[in-house]
Amino acid sequence: MVDQRLDRKFNFKVLMAVYLLIAIAIFIKLSAMQIFSASYYRRASLENSVRIVPIKAPRGIILDRFGNIIVRNRPSYSMYLVPYQVPDIKLVAAKLANFLNVDKTYLQNTIVANWKNKFLPIRLRRDIDFTTLSILEEHSLDLPGVAFQIEPTRMYPDSGIGSHFLGYIGEVYDKEIETNPDYRSGDLVGKKGIEKQYDSYLRGRDGLSYLEVTAQGRVLGKYPEKEDVEPISGATLTLNIDLEMQKLADHLLDSCGQGAVVVMDVNTGGVLTLASSPEFDANLFSGFISPDKWNEIVNDPAHPLLNRGIQATYPPGSTMKIFTAGMALYFDKVSAERGFDACRGAKRFGNRVFKCWRPEGHGRLDLHGAIVQSCDIYFYQMGLACGMELWEKFMPMCHLGQLTGIDIPGEKPGNSPSIKYYDNRYGKNGWTKIFIVNLAIGQGEVLVTPVQMATLYAAVGNGGTIYQPQIVKKITDSYGTETIISPKETGKLPLTQAQLDFLVEAMTGVTEEGGGTARGVQLPGISVAGKTGTAQNPHGKEHSWFVCIAPAVNPEISIAVLVENAGHGSTVAAPLAKRILQYYFKIPTKPIA
Ligand SMILES: [Zn+2]
Repeated sequence: MVDQRLDRKFNFKVLMAVYLLIAIAIFIKLSAMQIFSASYYRRASLENSVRIVPIKAPRGIILDRFGNIIVRNRPSYSMYLVPYQVPDIKLVAAKLANFLNVDKTYLQNTIVANWKNKFLPIRLRRDIDFTTLSILEEHSLDLPGVAFQIEPTRMYPDSGIGSHFLGYIGEVYDKEIETNPDYRSGDLVGKKGIEKQYDSYLRGRDGLSYLEVTAQGRVLGKYPEKEDVEPISGATLTLNIDLEMQKLADHLLDSCGQGAVVVMDVNTGGVLTLASSPEFDANLFSGFISPDKWNEIVNDPAHPLLNRGIQATYPPGSTMKIFTAGMALYFDKVSAERGFDACRGAKRFGNRVFKCWRPEGHGRLDLHGAIVQSCDIYFYQMGLACGMELWEKFMPMCHLGQLTGIDIPGEKPGNSPSIKYYDNRYGKNGWTKIFIVNLAIGQGEVLVTPVQMATLYAAVGNGGTIYQPQIVKKITDSYGTETIISPKETGKLPLTQAQLDFLVEAMTGVTEEGGGTARGVQLPGISVAGKTGTAQNPHGKEHSWFVCIAPAVNPEISIAVLVENAGHGSTVAAPLAKRILQYYFKIPTKPIA
């Protein structure tokens, strides 16, 4: 009995192997027929012509800054239907639909939509899983004209690591074919992130095969008078991304909720990490994605496809105070002699009472103390002392409300309101100068993205240079020629070195001085200059911000952390940033036993 069962099991395995070989043989046989029997077919038709068939170039791989592979290609099976070998298309479609567990009308429509002529194979499904492949092979006698071919498929990291900046590939849209002469129907092209922005480098150059075909479109074999053109594989992209740091940020964010982490090289604009939570699994898009699965992702209320690092705009909350302070310094509206009223926890402006986050008040403060303790009453008064005229002059000089130019598509500029903005929105007399009170503490209509904050804090730390954030560091083509992406300056903060030093010192006080709002972010031997933010949000609990540079003197990295609806910046965002700093500066997170 047992032997018999083992025998049967063994026979089944042998059978599966044979079927698999047959599947591969079908394609080899097809090609062989076309190549070796060419002369026979050639004689059969007098009106042969040449068909040019592209040979797919392997897509370039993507590496992190240390050469670790982030995105590669793996072999996969695609299923084709060769129409002229199918006696009854409807019947085969119905049987296939059953095995693939899809609607048969959907499958029939795919066949109709991709039907060119009866000799041209129609791709029905990419990346068939092995179980389905085995089942189809088992029933191959019932499925005439169904064949399989090995094709490369994109392979992204597990659990959505870096999915937002990597993006994904998908079948080209008709609209894209119209605007790009390199694209052909059925091509896989970049749809989002790096895959889209650098598609022209990654895709390589397809080769060409010249085939002889009959007047009816039947392939006879290689066209003897033309040499094939070999494909050129796509370029390798080396990113500024540190894969381990990216994993850490993705993991930490997931444990906090929805939000973003951006880590940047202060002196080049190189992006070391760009995490956005929730992530999505880019692997879903490189093979077959069912309409149901697609709808599920698109309609997910957590918006997993939204890159919160560059596409979501948030009130900056108190992280804005560094720029409000910059404005007052630039226009000489603040000095040791010219202080503001002491904070008693609340203050009336116009006919409204504005509160400080600390109900018992901060007393009298200078600018340094006001930044360290993040006193709202101080900044309300400073905003009013400047007014909208100075705000609308200064903030655009700091590129607030402008795109950083990061090298992935879809970035949003945020908003830095101007007088004209308010006139348009509320009418000329529909708003008052009191509006700036809210802007001064990063509330109201001022909106920023996490990547903007990482970029601008980096500029505060590096002497004022605003760099374009760059994810890609180097492009290496298939001949080994390297193109290094050099740092790109997009502007300069309008502040003197002394003013910048003053701001960095105050930000260092945030983590080091008594009353500082982020005293938890202290590291042995490394000074951190940062600012917390707790941004009110009309749709729910406050957003938690922490933005910093480190070391405070001669900084290397800037970090912006935003966690949606998580409450105080000091309790959620700042501890997350600390973990990133510990990783970067190789500070052990647990005491060594
Ligand atoms: Zn206060």
